[in-house]
Amino acid sequence: MSYAYHGKILHAHLSEMRLEIEKPPESFYRKYMGGSAFGAYYLLKHTPAESDALSPENTLTLAVGVITGAPISGQSRLSAVAKSPLTGAIGDSQSGGFFPAELKFAGFDAIVLHGKAEKPSYLWIKDGKAELRSAEHLWGKKTDEVEDIIKAELDDAKIQILQTGIAGENGVHFSALISMANRANGRAGMGAVMASKNLKAVAVRGKMRPQLADKKGLLAHAKWGAKNFPDSDIYGMGTHGTAEVLGPQNEGGGLPTYNWSSGVFESWVAISGEKMTETILKERDTCYACTVRCKRVVETEKVSPRFGGPEYETLSTFGSYCGIDDLEAIAYANQLCNLYGMDTIS
Ligand code: SF4
Repeated sequence: MSYAYHGKILHAHLSEMRLEIEKPPESFYRKYMGGSAFGAYYLLKHTPAESDALSPENTLTLAVGVITGAPISGQSRLSAVAKSPLTGAIGDSQSGGFFPAELKFAGFDAIVLHGKAEKPSYLWIKDGKAELRSAEHLWGKKTDEVEDIIKAELDDAKIQILQTGIAGENGVHFSALISMANRANGRAGMGAVMASKNLKAVAVRGKMRPQLADKKGLLAHAKWGAKNFPDSDIYGMGTHGTAEVLGPQNEGGGLPTYNWSSGVFESWVAISGEKMTETILKERDTCYACTVRCKRVVETEKVSPRFGGPEYETLSTFGSYCGIDDLEAIAYANQLCNLYGMDTIS
């Protein structure tokens, strides 16, 4: 592979506890590009149409994109794709954070999970090498505990971990995959799919930076982006998070309110991004190499900064949708979802 990708896709055949490295031709990468299209390709190739989403026949692909891992804003994204237990159709869920870039640095462009392990296991990948390890001691544990245990046993605090939570273990159809204890591949039940394979987590670490065709040019773009960001239309998203759109949504009558019987919430100011910034925001966080820093870190007596802070969607579904204008209560609900691995929107 010339640039950006490693040309390696890791297949974990969990029923046989066997790992295999596929080296697709460049034409494969040019045709499917990466991310969700890789996931759809492997799902259609390996999963029979009538399979149950929580059966070993389902194929769960974790795939990054062409520029994932490059030092520029917005590239650290991961697609998790499998048949969804929630819809019975293709489930395609995205997340950011540091796991996607670290997966690329660990030497693989995607991981394809087949079958079902006999016992709870986790996948550990470092610098192009992979192994399956026992996760019996991790099953039933909350996301923050799993993060701490894996980092301690592998003796590296910089490992990035994507895991299914207790919700996934219990087959919740809207369970998420969680990384950093505060980033989620939500919506489509990918947490339940990973857990149905008896796979608790994927841990990655590496120094295999992808080769860039024009590193100088890319760095110049990144520098230009950072310099001009304060004058851009999305500057407010950095300042107040995705919650910045709550006000405009309300003004336009599109804020989900009272179980969608209304699009206008009279108490919207109390749950707005601006109010969060003024009250419970501890600091801003980011994804790998992103200057936007739209992620929220909030802290109250009940809410730990470890679990991030609510996004716009979470503020509306736990807030206006339910007629709740207590920002701390919403942040606490967000924390519980991240602790147990549940989607905050569904
Ligand atoms: S910090 Fe925000 S804008 Fe930047 S990559 Fe992460 S989610 Fe996207």
